[in-house]
Amino acid sequence: MRFHHRIGIESVSLKAELFLLFLEETIIGFLISFVISAVSSAARYGDIVFAAAILFLLFLLFLWRRFPTKIAQEGFYLLYCIGMGNVLLPLLYFFCGGLESGMPLFYILFDVATAFLLDNLALALEFGTSTAELVLVLIYDYRHPGLLARFTDLGAIRYFDIPVVFIIVGVSVGLALRVIMRNFRENQKMNQELLRQIRGMAQTDPLTGTYDRGYLFDHIGECIAQYEKDGGKTFSLIMFDLDYFKKINDTYGHLTGDQCLKKLVQVVRENLRKDDIIARYGGEEFICVLPGADDITAFRRAEKIREIVEKTPLSPELKKPVTISAGVAQYEAGMATEQLLKAVDSNLYLAKRRGRNRVIWRNGNFAPMTLQQEPPVGDHRRAGDISDEKK
Ligand code: GH3
Ligand code: MG
Ligand code: MG
Repeated sequence: MRFHHRIGIESVSLKAELFLLFLEETIIGFLISFVISAVSSAARYGDIVFAAAILFLLFLLFLWRRFPTKIAQEGFYLLYCIGMGNVLLPLLYFFCGGLESGMPLFYILFDVATAFLLDNLALALEFGTSTAELVLVLIYDYRHPGLLARFTDLGAIRYFDIPVVFIIVGVSVGLALRVIMRNFRENQKMNQELLRQIRGMAQTDPLTGTYDRGYLFDHIGECIAQYEKDGGKTFSLIMFDLDYFKKINDTYGHLTGDQCLKKLVQVVRENLRKDDIIARYGGEEFICVLPGADDITAFRRAEKIREIVEKTPLSPELKKPVTISAGVAQYEAGMATEQLLKAVDSNLYLAKRRGRNRVIWRNGNFAPMTLQQEPPVGDHRRAGDISDEKK
Protein backbone atom coordinates (compact mmCIF):
# COMPACT_ATOMS: atom_id res chain seq x y z
CA MET A 1 0.00 0.00 0.00
CA ARG A 2 1.11 3.54 -0.62
CA PHE A 3 1.88 4.47 3.00
CA HIS A 4 3.98 1.35 3.30
CA HIS A 5 6.95 3.22 1.85
CA ARG A 6 6.36 6.41 3.74
CA ILE A 7 6.47 4.73 7.12
CA GLY A 8 9.71 3.01 6.37
CA ILE A 9 8.99 0.09 8.69
CA GLU A 10 9.88 -3.24 7.15
CA SER A 11 6.63 -4.99 7.90
CA VAL A 12 3.88 -2.47 8.31
CA SER A 13 1.57 -3.43 11.15
CA LEU A 14 -2.00 -4.43 10.57
CA LYS A 15 -3.02 -1.68 12.96
CA ALA A 16 -1.45 1.02 10.83
CA GLU A 17 -3.18 -0.23 7.70
CA LEU A 18 -6.52 -0.47 9.44
CA PHE A 19 -6.14 2.96 10.99
CA LEU A 20 -5.70 4.64 7.63
CA LEU A 21 -8.52 2.58 6.21
CA PHE A 22 -10.88 3.66 9.00
CA LEU A 23 -9.69 7.24 8.82
CA GLU A 24 -10.19 7.48 5.09
CA GLU A 25 -13.53 5.70 5.24
CA THR A 26 -14.85 7.97 7.98
CA ILE A 27 -13.72 11.04 6.08
CA ILE A 28 -15.52 9.77 2.96
CA GLY A 29 -18.60 8.80 4.99
CA PHE A 30 -18.77 12.18 6.71
CA LEU A 31 -18.17 14.02 3.45
CA ILE A 32 -21.00 12.23 1.69
CA SER A 33 -23.39 12.81 4.59
CA PHE A 34 -22.29 16.42 4.86
CA VAL A 35 -22.80 17.10 1.15
CA ILE A 36 -26.21 15.43 1.12
CA SER A 37 -27.51 17.34 4.12
CA ALA A 38 -25.84 20.63 3.14
CA VAL A 39 -27.24 20.74 -0.40
CA SER A 40 -30.67 19.68 0.76
CA SER A 41 -31.19 22.60 3.10
CA ALA A 42 -29.53 25.60 4.66
CA ALA A 43 -26.67 25.03 7.07
CA ARG A 44 -27.67 23.66 10.45
CA TYR A 45 -25.84 22.84 13.66
CA GLY A 46 -25.35 19.31 12.42
CA ASP A 47 -23.55 20.49 9.30
CA ILE A 48 -21.19 22.60 11.37
CA VAL A 49 -20.27 19.56 13.46
CA PHE A 50 -19.89 17.49 10.30
CA ALA A 51 -17.55 20.12 8.86
CA ALA A 52 -15.57 20.21 12.12
CA ALA A 53 -15.34 16.42 12.06
CA ILE A 54 -14.05 16.38 8.51
CA LEU A 55 -11.45 19.05 9.32
CA PHE A 56 -10.36 17.15 12.41
CA LEU A 57 -9.97 13.92 10.47
CA LEU A 58 -8.11 15.60 7.61
CA PHE A 59 -5.80 17.20 10.15
CA LEU A 60 -5.20 13.76 11.67
CA LEU A 61 -4.48 12.34 8.23
CA PHE A 62 -2.00 15.16 7.61
CA LEU A 63 -0.30 14.55 10.97
CA TRP A 64 -0.12 10.82 10.28
CA ARG A 65 1.61 11.36 6.97
CA ARG A 66 3.92 13.95 8.51
CA PHE A 67 4.96 11.98 11.61
CA PRO A 68 4.90 8.32 10.75
CA THR A 69 6.88 7.06 13.76
CA LYS A 70 5.68 4.28 16.04
CA ILE A 71 5.16 6.55 19.04
CA ALA A 72 3.22 9.04 16.95
CA GLN A 73 1.08 6.19 15.65
CA GLU A 74 -0.11 5.31 19.15
CA GLY A 75 -1.00 8.96 19.69
CA PHE A 76 -3.01 9.10 16.46
CA TYR A 77 -5.00 6.00 17.32
CA LEU A 78 -5.89 7.58 20.66
CA LEU A 79 -6.72 10.94 19.12
CA TYR A 80 -8.92 9.32 16.50
CA CYS A 81 -10.78 7.17 19.02
CA ILE A 82 -11.23 9.85 21.67
CA GLY A 83 -11.97 12.62 19.18
CA MET A 84 -14.56 10.50 17.41
CA GLY A 85 -16.05 8.53 20.29
CA ASN A 86 -16.14 11.17 22.99
CA VAL A 87 -16.55 14.41 21.09
CA LEU A 88 -17.71 14.25 17.50
CA LEU A 89 -20.09 11.30 17.43
CA PRO A 90 -22.10 12.34 20.53
CA LEU A 91 -22.32 15.88 19.13
CA LEU A 92 -23.39 14.61 15.73
CA TYR A 93 -25.89 12.31 17.36
CA PHE A 94 -27.25 15.27 19.22
CA PHE A 95 -27.47 17.65 16.27
CA CYS A 96 -28.43 15.25 13.50
CA GLY A 97 -31.68 13.79 14.71
CA GLY A 98 -30.83 10.99 17.12
CA LEU A 99 -31.46 7.33 16.40
CA GLU A 100 -33.05 7.85 13.01
CA SER A 101 -30.19 9.87 11.58
CA GLY A 102 -27.93 6.98 10.76
CA MET A 103 -25.56 7.91 13.56
CA PRO A 104 -25.78 4.46 15.20
CA LEU A 105 -24.08 3.05 12.11
CA PHE A 106 -21.27 5.54 12.40
CA TYR A 107 -21.01 4.38 15.99
CA ILE A 108 -20.74 0.75 14.96
CA LEU A 109 -18.03 1.54 12.43
CA PHE A 110 -16.19 3.59 14.98
CA ASP A 111 -16.44 0.89 17.67
CA VAL A 112 -14.93 -1.65 15.29
CA ALA A 113 -12.09 0.80 14.67
CA THR A 114 -11.57 1.31 18.40
CA ALA A 115 -11.44 -2.42 19.06
CA PHE A 116 -8.84 -2.85 16.33
CA LEU A 117 -6.72 0.17 17.11
CA LEU A 118 -6.46 0.39 20.88
CA ASP A 119 -5.20 -2.14 23.41
CA ASN A 120 -5.87 -2.98 27.02
CA LEU A 121 -6.28 0.07 29.23
CA ALA A 122 -6.76 2.55 26.39
CA LEU A 123 -9.42 0.33 24.85
CA ALA A 124 -11.26 -0.16 28.16
CA LEU A 125 -11.15 3.58 28.90
CA GLU A 126 -12.33 4.55 25.46
CA PHE A 127 -15.15 2.01 25.41
CA GLY A 128 -16.15 2.87 28.96
CA THR A 129 -16.30 6.63 28.49
CA SER A 130 -17.93 6.62 25.07
CA THR A 131 -20.55 4.10 26.15
CA ALA A 132 -21.31 6.13 29.29
CA GLU A 133 -21.59 9.21 27.12
CA LEU A 134 -23.91 7.47 24.67
CA VAL A 135 -26.14 6.23 27.50
CA LEU A 136 -26.33 9.77 28.90
CA VAL A 137 -27.27 11.20 25.51
CA LEU A 138 -29.92 8.49 25.03
CA ILE A 139 -31.40 9.14 28.47
CA TYR A 140 -31.40 12.85 27.80
CA ASP A 141 -32.98 12.30 24.40
CA TYR A 142 -35.65 10.09 25.96
CA ARG A 143 -36.41 12.47 28.81
CA HIS A 144 -36.64 15.57 26.62
CA PRO A 145 -38.29 14.44 23.39
CA GLY A 146 -38.61 17.91 21.95
CA LEU A 147 -35.01 18.86 22.57
CA LEU A 148 -33.39 17.39 19.47
CA ALA A 149 -36.04 18.87 17.20
CA ARG A 150 -34.91 22.32 18.28
CA PHE A 151 -31.47 21.78 16.78
CA THR A 152 -32.27 19.67 13.78
CA ASP A 153 -34.68 19.65 10.94
CA LEU A 154 -33.53 16.86 8.73
CA GLY A 155 -36.87 15.75 7.33
CA ALA A 156 -36.57 13.07 4.69
CA ILE A 157 -32.82 13.54 4.44
CA ARG A 158 -32.05 11.37 7.46
CA TYR A 159 -33.53 8.37 5.64
CA PHE A 160 -31.08 9.13 2.87
CA ASP A 161 -28.26 8.95 5.33
CA ILE A 162 -29.05 5.44 6.43
CA PRO A 163 -28.41 3.64 3.10
CA VAL A 164 -25.37 5.83 2.52
CA VAL A 165 -23.91 4.82 5.85
CA PHE A 166 -24.81 1.20 5.14
CA ILE A 167 -22.80 1.38 1.94
CA ILE A 168 -19.87 2.97 3.77
CA VAL A 169 -19.94 0.34 6.49
CA GLY A 170 -20.18 -2.41 3.86
CA VAL A 171 -17.28 -1.03 1.87
CA SER A 172 -15.23 -0.57 5.04
CA VAL A 173 -15.81 -4.08 6.26
CA GLY A 174 -14.99 -5.42 2.78
CA LEU A 175 -11.80 -3.41 2.59
CA ALA A 176 -10.84 -4.37 6.13
CA LEU A 177 -11.27 -8.05 5.31
CA ARG A 178 -9.16 -7.61 2.21
CA VAL A 179 -6.39 -5.95 4.18
CA ILE A 180 -6.55 -8.65 6.86
CA MET A 181 -6.33 -11.40 4.25
CA ARG A 182 -3.46 -9.74 2.46
CA ASN A 183 -1.57 -9.28 5.70
CA PHE A 184 -2.24 -12.85 6.62
CA ARG A 185 -0.78 -14.04 3.33
CA GLU A 186 2.20 -11.68 3.63
CA ASN A 187 2.89 -12.91 7.15
CA GLN A 188 2.69 -16.48 6.02
CA LYS A 189 5.21 -15.80 3.27
CA MET A 190 7.49 -13.98 5.68
CA ASN A 191 7.29 -16.83 8.19
CA GLN A 192 8.22 -19.36 5.54
CA GLU A 193 11.17 -17.23 4.50
CA LEU A 194 12.28 -16.87 8.14
CA LEU A 195 11.92 -20.59 8.68
CA ARG A 196 14.07 -21.19 5.62
CA GLN A 197 16.70 -18.79 6.94
CA ILE A 198 16.69 -20.34 10.41
CA ARG A 199 17.00 -23.80 8.91
CA GLY A 200 19.88 -22.52 6.79
CA MET A 201 21.64 -21.01 9.81
CA ALA A 202 21.29 -24.18 11.85
CA GLN A 203 22.75 -26.17 8.98
CA THR A 204 25.88 -24.13 8.52
CA ASP A 205 29.46 -25.18 8.92
CA PRO A 206 30.99 -23.03 11.69
CA LEU A 207 34.46 -22.73 10.14
CA THR A 208 33.63 -21.71 6.60
CA GLY A 209 30.02 -20.56 6.88
CA THR A 210 29.00 -22.90 4.07
CA TYR A 211 26.02 -25.22 4.34
CA ASP A 212 26.59 -28.63 5.87
CA ARG A 213 25.96 -32.06 4.36
CA GLY A 214 22.43 -32.28 5.75
CA TYR A 215 21.42 -29.08 4.03
CA LEU A 216 23.17 -30.16 0.84
CA PHE A 217 21.15 -33.39 0.67
CA ASP A 218 17.90 -31.53 1.35
CA HIS A 219 18.77 -28.95 -1.26
CA ILE A 220 19.59 -31.51 -3.94
CA GLY A 221 16.29 -33.21 -3.11
CA GLU A 222 14.50 -29.89 -3.62
CA CYS A 223 16.29 -29.34 -6.93
CA ILE A 224 15.21 -32.79 -8.11
CA ALA A 225 11.61 -32.05 -7.09
CA GLN A 226 11.82 -28.75 -8.94
CA TYR A 227 13.21 -30.55 -12.00
CA GLU A 228 10.22 -32.84 -12.03
CA LYS A 229 7.85 -29.90 -11.57
CA ASP A 230 9.44 -27.73 -14.25
CA GLY A 231 9.68 -30.62 -16.69
CA GLY A 232 13.35 -30.87 -17.38
CA LYS A 233 15.13 -27.69 -16.30
CA THR A 234 18.28 -29.36 -15.10
CA PHE A 235 20.91 -28.44 -12.51
CA SER A 236 24.55 -29.36 -12.00
CA LEU A 237 27.04 -30.02 -9.24
CA ILE A 238 30.66 -29.03 -8.92
CA MET A 239 32.64 -30.94 -6.33
CA PHE A 240 36.14 -29.81 -5.51
CA ASP A 241 38.93 -30.70 -3.16
CA LEU A 242 42.15 -28.88 -2.31
CA ASP A 243 45.25 -30.46 -3.73
CA TYR A 244 47.86 -31.70 -1.24
CA PHE A 245 46.07 -30.07 1.61
CA LYS A 246 47.52 -32.46 4.15
CA LYS A 247 50.94 -31.08 3.33
CA ILE A 248 49.79 -27.52 3.90
CA ASN A 249 48.59 -28.55 7.34
CA ASP A 250 51.78 -30.42 8.06
CA THR A 251 54.02 -27.61 6.86
CA TYR A 252 52.23 -24.51 8.08
CA GLY A 253 49.94 -25.82 10.78
CA HIS A 254 46.21 -26.31 11.04
CA LEU A 255 45.42 -22.63 11.59
CA THR A 256 46.92 -21.74 8.24
CA GLY A 257 45.00 -24.66 6.78
CA ASP A 258 41.79 -23.24 8.23
CA GLN A 259 42.63 -19.85 6.80
CA CYS A 260 43.05 -21.43 3.37
CA LEU A 261 39.65 -23.08 3.62
CA LYS A 262 37.96 -19.79 4.53
CA LYS A 263 39.66 -17.87 1.77
CA LEU A 264 38.88 -20.60 -0.71
CA VAL A 265 35.19 -20.44 0.15
CA GLN A 266 35.27 -16.67 -0.23
CA VAL A 267 36.80 -16.97 -3.69
CA VAL A 268 34.29 -19.60 -4.76
CA ARG A 269 31.37 -17.55 -3.44
CA GLU A 270 32.48 -14.54 -5.45
CA ASN A 271 32.18 -16.68 -8.54
CA LEU A 272 28.74 -18.13 -7.94
CA ARG A 273 25.37 -16.72 -8.88
CA LYS A 274 22.73 -15.71 -6.35
CA ASP A 275 20.85 -19.01 -6.46
CA ASP A 276 23.93 -21.24 -6.35
CA ILE A 277 24.90 -22.70 -3.01
CA ILE A 278 28.12 -24.06 -1.60
CA ALA A 279 28.24 -26.80 1.04
CA ARG A 280 31.04 -28.48 2.91
CA TYR A 281 30.84 -32.11 1.97
CA GLY A 282 33.84 -33.43 3.90
CA GLY A 283 37.05 -32.08 5.46
CA GLU A 284 38.26 -29.97 2.55
CA GLU A 285 35.77 -31.13 -0.03
CA PHE A 286 33.05 -28.78 -1.12
CA ILE A 287 30.07 -29.10 -3.41
CA CYS A 288 28.39 -26.29 -5.32
CA VAL A 289 24.84 -26.74 -6.54
CA LEU A 290 24.02 -24.70 -9.63
CA PRO A 291 20.27 -24.64 -10.29
CA GLY A 292 19.30 -24.20 -13.91
CA ALA A 293 22.85 -24.87 -15.14
CA ASP A 294 23.76 -27.65 -17.55
CA ASP A 295 27.18 -29.25 -17.27
CA ILE A 296 28.71 -26.97 -19.88
CA THR A 297 27.85 -23.95 -17.76
CA ALA A 298 29.00 -25.76 -14.63
CA PHE A 299 32.22 -26.82 -16.28
CA ARG A 300 33.02 -23.27 -17.35
CA ARG A 301 32.28 -22.07 -13.86
CA ALA A 302 34.48 -24.74 -12.28
CA GLU A 303 37.28 -24.01 -14.70
CA LYS A 304 37.08 -20.30 -13.92
CA ILE A 305 37.16 -20.97 -10.18
CA ARG A 306 40.09 -23.35 -10.59
CA GLU A 307 42.04 -20.68 -12.45
CA ILE A 308 41.25 -17.95 -9.96
CA VAL A 309 42.17 -20.14 -6.98
CA GLU A 310 45.50 -20.93 -8.58
CA LYS A 311 46.22 -17.21 -8.86
CA THR A 312 44.92 -16.21 -5.43
CA PRO A 313 47.12 -16.54 -2.33
CA LEU A 314 44.85 -18.41 0.11
CA SER A 315 47.11 -17.45 3.00
CA PRO A 316 49.94 -14.87 3.19
CA GLU A 317 52.22 -17.55 4.65
CA LEU A 318 52.10 -19.84 1.64
CA LYS A 319 54.92 -19.48 -0.84
CA LYS A 320 53.38 -21.43 -3.69
CA PRO A 321 49.87 -21.34 -5.10
CA VAL A 322 47.33 -23.78 -3.75
CA THR A 323 45.21 -25.51 -6.36
CA ILE A 324 41.96 -27.40 -6.49
CA SER A 325 40.73 -30.35 -8.48
CA ALA A 326 37.08 -30.55 -9.46
CA GLY A 327 34.47 -32.88 -10.85
CA VAL A 328 31.33 -31.72 -12.61
CA ALA A 329 28.06 -33.62 -13.11
CA GLN A 330 24.68 -32.72 -14.51
CA TYR A 331 21.45 -34.13 -13.15
CA GLU A 332 19.75 -36.51 -15.55
CA ALA A 333 16.09 -37.56 -15.31
CA GLY A 334 15.49 -40.40 -12.87
CA MET A 335 18.77 -40.04 -10.97
CA ALA A 336 18.76 -40.35 -7.19
CA THR A 337 20.74 -37.89 -5.06
CA GLU A 338 23.30 -40.59 -4.28
CA GLN A 339 23.81 -41.39 -7.97
CA LEU A 340 24.42 -37.76 -8.78
CA LEU A 341 26.90 -37.47 -5.91
CA LYS A 342 28.62 -40.63 -7.04
CA ALA A 343 28.97 -39.26 -10.57
CA VAL A 344 30.47 -35.99 -9.42
CA ASP A 345 32.69 -37.73 -6.86
CA SER A 346 34.13 -40.14 -9.41
CA ASN A 347 34.92 -37.23 -11.74
CA LEU A 348 36.75 -35.50 -8.89
CA TYR A 349 38.60 -38.72 -8.16
CA LEU A 350 39.71 -38.88 -11.80
CA ALA A 351 40.80 -35.24 -11.70
CA LYS A 352 43.06 -36.18 -8.81
CA ARG A 353 44.37 -39.27 -10.49
CA ARG A 354 45.09 -37.46 -13.71
CA GLY A 355 47.34 -34.92 -12.16
CA ARG A 356 45.21 -32.52 -10.04
CA ASN A 357 44.51 -28.84 -10.71
CA ARG A 358 41.95 -29.73 -13.35
CA VAL A 359 38.24 -30.24 -13.93
CA ILE A 360 36.77 -33.51 -15.17
CA TRP A 361 33.19 -34.06 -16.39
CA ARG A 362 30.97 -36.48 -18.32
CA ASN A 363 32.05 -39.91 -17.16
CA GLY A 364 35.61 -39.00 -16.55
CA ASN A 365 36.36 -37.10 -19.74
CA PHE A 366 38.43 -34.03 -20.11
CA ALA A 367 36.31 -31.28 -21.53
CA PRO A 368 36.96 -30.36 -25.18
CA MET A 369 39.66 -27.76 -25.67
CA THR A 370 37.09 -25.18 -26.74
CA LEU A 371 35.68 -25.22 -23.24
CA GLN A 372 39.02 -24.94 -21.53
CA GLN A 373 40.88 -21.73 -21.40
CA GLU A 374 44.06 -23.67 -20.73
CA PRO A 375 45.10 -27.25 -21.46
CA PRO A 376 45.28 -29.35 -18.29
CA VAL A 377 48.59 -29.22 -16.48
CA GLY A 378 50.74 -32.24 -17.28
CA ASP A 379 53.07 -32.51 -14.33
CA HIS A 380 50.98 -33.44 -11.33
CA ARG A 381 53.80 -32.66 -8.92
CA ARG A 382 53.66 -29.06 -10.03
CA ALA A 383 50.13 -28.25 -9.14
CA GLY A 384 49.89 -27.02 -5.59
CA ASP A 385 52.51 -29.50 -4.41
CA ILE A 386 54.46 -27.81 -1.68
CA SER A 387 56.28 -30.91 -0.50
CA ASP A 388 59.66 -29.41 -1.38
CA GLU A 389 59.01 -26.23 0.59
CA LYS A 390 59.91 -25.30 4.13
CA LYS A 391 61.35 -28.64 5.04
P1 GH3 B 1 44.72 -34.58 -2.40
O1 GH3 B 1 45.39 -33.69 -3.38
O2 GH3 B 1 44.74 -35.98 -2.84
O3 GH3 B 1 43.38 -34.12 -2.04
O4 GH3 B 1 45.66 -34.54 -1.14
P2 GH3 B 1 45.29 -34.06 0.27
O5 GH3 B 1 46.52 -33.92 1.07
O6 GH3 B 1 44.46 -32.87 0.21
O7 GH3 B 1 44.50 -35.33 0.77
P3 GH3 B 1 43.13 -35.39 1.50
O8 GH3 B 1 42.13 -34.70 0.69
O9 GH3 B 1 42.88 -36.83 1.81
O10 GH3 B 1 43.44 -34.62 2.85
C1 GH3 B 1 42.50 -34.01 3.57
C2 GH3 B 1 43.16 -33.24 4.66
O11 GH3 B 1 42.38 -32.13 5.00
C3 GH3 B 1 43.30 -34.04 5.91
C4 GH3 B 1 42.89 -33.15 7.01
O12 GH3 B 1 43.93 -32.96 7.96
C5 GH3 B 1 42.62 -31.83 6.35
N1 GH3 B 1 41.46 -31.18 6.90
C6 GH3 B 1 40.20 -31.63 6.92
N2 GH3 B 1 39.39 -30.74 7.54
C7 GH3 B 1 40.18 -29.72 7.92
C8 GH3 B 1 39.94 -28.48 8.62
O13 GH3 B 1 38.80 -28.16 9.01
N3 GH3 B 1 40.98 -27.66 8.84
C9 GH3 B 1 42.25 -28.00 8.43
N4 GH3 B 1 43.23 -27.16 8.66
N5 GH3 B 1 42.50 -29.16 7.79
C10 GH3 B 1 41.49 -30.00 7.52
MG1 MG C 1 42.67 -32.78 -0.74
MG1 MG D 1 39.89 -34.58 0.65
